[in-house]
Amino acid sequence: MEKIALTHLVLGELDTNCYIISDLEKRNCIVIDPGAEGEKVLHELEIKDLKLEAIINTHGHMDHIGGNEFLLKETGCKLYIHEDDKDMLQDPAKNLSVYSGNDVISPPATDILEDKQILEFGNIRLKIIHTPGHSPGSVSILLDKRLFSGDTLFKK
Ligand SMILES: [Zn+2]
Repeated sequence: MEKIALTHLVLGELDTNCYIISDLEKRNCIVIDPGAEGEKVLHELEIKDLKLEAIINTHGHMDHIGGNEFLLKETGCKLYIHEDDKDMLQDPAKNLSVYSGNDVISPPATDILEDKQILEFGNIRLKIIHTPGHSPGSVSILLDKRLFSGDTLFKK
């Protein structure tokens, strides 16, 4: 695991936690929840010389998907979300952005997440756990012993 690095960014007005998981040997990475400010995420990837393989959205709320469009357009990466939240990506009423006065519309998912799925990107190995509640398609992502839970667990 020592070649795997973790970067934490706090993005947007709602202070969304965004994580970059990178493989320092292969120089590739994935991004969890680019909630806003896609430019800031891309800048981080550029200064670290990392190729973005995929975005994983823990769920479909606007403050977790706002950077999808910019990053997909700039990098051509994949976009993963659970089946039960995939319609939220392109529906401002479902992703709640309609209430913010600034509609968020993400590109559609390229790949669908499933419970107990293992995803591998180079040396980055992730396990997907479906944890519905906050939204029907909320997932948690397990990296070694670290769990990324989106909004399933709120830190007060
Ligand atoms: Zn949420």
